[in-house]
Amino acid sequence: MTTSTATATAPYGELAATVRGEVILPGDPGYDQARAVYNGMIDKHPAALARCRDTADIVTCVRFARSRGIEIAVRGGGHNAAGFGVWDDALVIDLSLLRSTTVNPYGHTVRVDAGCTWGDVDHATVAFGMATPSGFLASTGVAGLTLGGGIGYLARRFGLTVDNLLAADVVLADGTFVTASETSHPDLFWALRGGGGNFGIVTSFTFRCHDIGEAGTIIGGPVLYDLADTPEVMRWYRELVPSLPEELSGWIALLTIPPAPPFPEQLWGRKACGIVWCYTGPHDRADEVLEPVRTYGSPLLVGLQPMPFTVLQSAFDALYPAGLQWYWKTDFFEEISDTAIDVHVKYGAQLPTGHSTMHMYPIDGAASRVPADATAFAYRDGGWAGVIVGVDPDPANAGRISRWAREYWEELHPTSVGGGYVNFLMNEGQDQVKASYRGNYDRLARVKHRYDPDNVFHINQNIQPASEPSP
Ligand SMILES: Cc1cc2nc3c(=O)[nH]c(=O)nc-3n(C[C@H](O)[C@H](O)[C@H](O)COP(=O)(O)OP(=O)(O)OC[C@H]3O[C@@H](n4cnc5c(N)ncnc54)[C@H](O)[C@@H]3O)c2cc1C
Repeated sequence: MTTSTATATAPYGELAATVRGEVILPGDPGYDQARAVYNGMIDKHPAALARCRDTADIVTCVRFARSRGIEIAVRGGGHNAAGFGVWDDALVIDLSLLRSTTVNPYGHTVRVDAGCTWGDVDHATVAFGMATPSGFLASTGVAGLTLGGGIGYLARRFGLTVDNLLAADVVLADGTFVTASETSHPDLFWALRGGGGNFGIVTSFTFRCHDIGEAGTIIGGPVLYDLADTPEVMRWYRELVPSLPEELSGWIALLTIPPAPPFPEQLWGRKACGIVWCYTGPHDRADEVLEPVRTYGSPLLVGLQPMPFTVLQSAFDALYPAGLQWYWKTDFFEEISDTAIDVHVKYGAQLPTGHSTMHMYPIDGAASRVPADATAFAYRDGGWAGVIVGVDPDPANAGRISRWAREYWEELHPTSVGGGYVNFLMNEGQDQVKASYRGNYDRLARVKHRYDPDNVFHINQNIQPASEPSP
């Protein structure tokens, strides 16, 4: 534990004396680094940040904040689009030091501390030829991604991250500790699987793992097409994906080809339509399964190759380091309609910066076989989660990237189902949160009443407590 002159004189002196982790205050040397999150657009000034060392520290922080009426923000991996991991004048309960994993290769499970990134988890499980469904990037936090649902390469084959959650240890708003699972606090367990950080602070997650590829080696990578081919590629892709074996998944993007290896120099900076594929089945079937993907159209680049799953998962981390400006817009799509394709063509031609992009991730196969009310994650209709992100290192471009993303979204939105993925929302208010949860919102509000009636955990995509608890 470290203390500072400031902590000794502030009410936080008492907290610093009790916890094993570090309490960082305005004026401390590490304050600006500690309050920075992944999205460089977020510039919040918390009252204090407590870097917790264990569950006892988390309990202490919750009780300390509640007894003094201090707002609580909870930080896992710090990747949240809206930057909800930090907040002005709040006590930030920072879990980033809790990075331990425990793999059970015989039981096919992994237990993960709440400060882990997906890179930590993949590192631990792929060594045993296994993975649990996560996202498309290694640097994203396990906690926020899981609590919002979790959409990634393995969703078609094994479901969303929440569909593979077996148990979660949780510190509740009154400072008590419970384990949530199908048999223990099942209402809480239902709500945690998509309902975000509304119900308590998860200290560890236990996930089911699956064998993937050949001892963890999959076949994956991008296939890139000329931007002018976008309409044909999107029409082909929308028909192809539902017909593919679930061992193969691919998300489609409009992007600028990064000016760096392994991309060939003659393609650097060129706008393109791309699909990033991941085949996790047996390699002796790979040629047959990947044949339509390799042979369609006139690609600029076919980058498919065998690689450890960890390599595909971390392939984009260096292109998107922490601290860039990000402006997000999201919707779910049941289909990629011709009208939608016209909008994609228009705004793909106007990508405002090299990092700005549009992605659509399939949510079909195993993810769509889970009933919409089986977990809090409500979109299971067998389509895509879409995200439009204006991204750039330069804060001077914040207005330009935000405007492009907003205008693109406004034209595309009428082709969507009317709500988006909570983990891709900015701070957009209750209507957008309700649209994300569809028919599950009222039940979430009742569970919120039971576990957090005072809305202690409200710095998130907030579920407002119902006036009555769940039955
Ligand atoms: C570059 C990038 C790529 C992404 N790719 C994907 C993807 O492939 N698939 C996908 O599904 N999502 C993806 N996301 C979205 C991601 O799921 C969300 O940003 C998520 O909120 C990140 O979680 P975190 O723990 O890093 O964030 P944080 O900012 O730390 O937290 C996010 C939210 O969860 C709450 N929270 C954090 N930890 C806890 C906890 N232990 N207990 C309770 N509440 C907690 C926070 O209060 C906050 O409201 C991506 C985001 C980025 C920036």
